[in-house]
Amino acid sequence: MRFRYCTECASPLTRRDATEYVCENGHEYWNEPHGSVCVAVLRDGQVLVARRGVEPRKGKYVLPGGFVEFDETPYEAARRELREETGLAVTDLDLLEVHTIHYRRNEASLSIVSSFSTTSLILIPRLSLNCDWRSVATSVGLGR
Ligand SMILES: [Zn+2]
Repeated sequence: MRFRYCTECASPLTRRDATEYVCENGHEYWNEPHGSVCVAVLRDGQVLVARRGVEPRKGKYVLPGGFVEFDETPYEAARRELREETGLAVTDLDLLEVHTIHYRRNEASLSIVSSFSTTSLILIPRLSLNCDWRSVATSVGLGR
């Protein structure tokens, strides 16, 4: 698939390489799925959420996570992203599901998301200021 215009700002896209495109305002697209992870840290009927610091969905609360780096397993990526974003370390991760999402609304770029859950916190230093505990029952639709 070849992308021509940015779905965020309608600017023409420049092709960076065989799979990546960017517009003049820095919105990026790719035409192959990228692997990513997120982690549902559960405690007493609550789930840990982190406020996004970058677009898309900047300022929204989402499950901690991010992209899988080269030569990294999804489990390693989940542990790394959780520690980077929250300051927490975990021993056990249970795979919940693997699914695809559109990285931004109304765009073609896809991300393959491996979702994990855990209750096995082994390090609780000072929790990142961008994190909060929310009721699992009221957390449907995070990031929207
Ligand atoms: Zn754009």
